[in-house]
Amino acid sequence: MDLIAGIDRKLDALASQSLIRRLRVADSPCAPRQVVDGRDMLAFCSNDYLGLASHPAVIAALQEGAERYGAGSGASHLVSGHSRAHALLEERFGAWMTPHVPQARALYLCTGYMANLAVLTALGADADAMIFSEALNHASLIDGARLAKAGVSVYPHGDVAALEQQLIASTAATKIVVTDSVFSMDGNLAPLPGLLALCERHGAWLVVDDAHGFGVLGATGRGALEHFGLHSPNLVYIGTLGKAAGVGGAFIAAHGSVIELLVQRARPYIYTTAAPPALAHALQASLDIIEGEEGKRRRAHLAALVDHLRDALRPQRWQLPPSTTAIQPVIIGSNEEALRVAASLHEQGLWVPAIRPPTVAAGTARLRVTLSAAHTHEEVALLARALNELERATA
Ligand SMILES: *Cc1c(COP(=O)(O)O)cnc(C)c1O
Repeated sequence: MDLIAGIDRKLDALASQSLIRRLRVADSPCAPRQVVDGRDMLAFCSNDYLGLASHPAVIAALQEGAERYGAGSGASHLVSGHSRAHALLEERFGAWMTPHVPQARALYLCTGYMANLAVLTALGADADAMIFSEALNHASLIDGARLAKAGVSVYPHGDVAALEQQLIASTAATKIVVTDSVFSMDGNLAPLPGLLALCERHGAWLVVDDAHGFGVLGATGRGALEHFGLHSPNLVYIGTLGKAAGVGGAFIAAHGSVIELLVQRARPYIYTTAAPPALAHALQASLDIIEGEEGKRRRAHLAALVDHLRDALRPQRWQLPPSTTAIQPVIIGSNEEALRVAASLHEQGLWVPAIRPPTVAAGTARLRVTLSAAHTHEEVALLARALNELERATA
């Protein structure tokens, strides 16, 4: 019982700092109107930015994929789990990214978390390499850097000049700069053109985690590289597919030689069962939507909803930092007030997650509002009204 008592003391300490998180159970598909713990809610928390997670064409493709390829892959890619569905998807991503990375090839991994571990442990495999990591990077990039043999140097958020000083001072044989494209708790964009110019000058890789950009940024939804019009052999791109693409998994796109090294060396690709092929098949339907007219319409609607929310919110004590993306944080400050506001919203049937440390810096607890092309203007107006009233009420 001493072992359990020790754990319970840790949990009590978290509870006393308002840091306990709890699971809620969704009883219906991911969509703005969702049944959660048996109750009808209007949700502003998913990363299903284009509303594809419950899109009929994607569901139908998943069913078709299961009929054609079965339920599971049965083995890792290099053993016997690499199906035609995986190969076709990887070819399509390679072709998609060729305008941005010369001789691009792509790999499909089970999750974005694993893709980030794969890239950083393979590129940063040697002790004389150095990973330059943006201060607000996602946990999976932080973990990838920890797992790599390379050293790690953190540069301040968005600070290209500070990064340049670090690159100039470094004697590392391999330099790897790594950043989120869209910061997941703030919604702002990394200065990718400046970072890429710097990487090219200093012979460094630029690893871009486009988890919140793929599908939503760029004229055809190909993400941050398309948005900024970037092209370079120094780029290593990670697009995750459980967010805007509505399914799951992630792809890594880079020069063919980088991808070949990953096939040979990346443990999160090699030592895991390949994702169910039906997922890869379903993703083809997502990509058809993303690059077609419907994708364009969905992105335009999402952009209009973002403008609507920002116009309608009138924060006084709280803050609405600049963000043009679907991630619209409302910074409240204290853990306790953020939780209280999220609970009041919940009572009104509005589901908005409160984000607390360690996910964000202490004193910047926030509501992380995410919008989706599946939301309506009426739903956004409802949320804005509730937030404006709650801020006045708790002042
Ligand atoms: C969600 C996310 C990931 C992880 O992707 P999964 O496919 O969910 O594992 C990686 N990086 C960022 C920035 C993310 O937001």
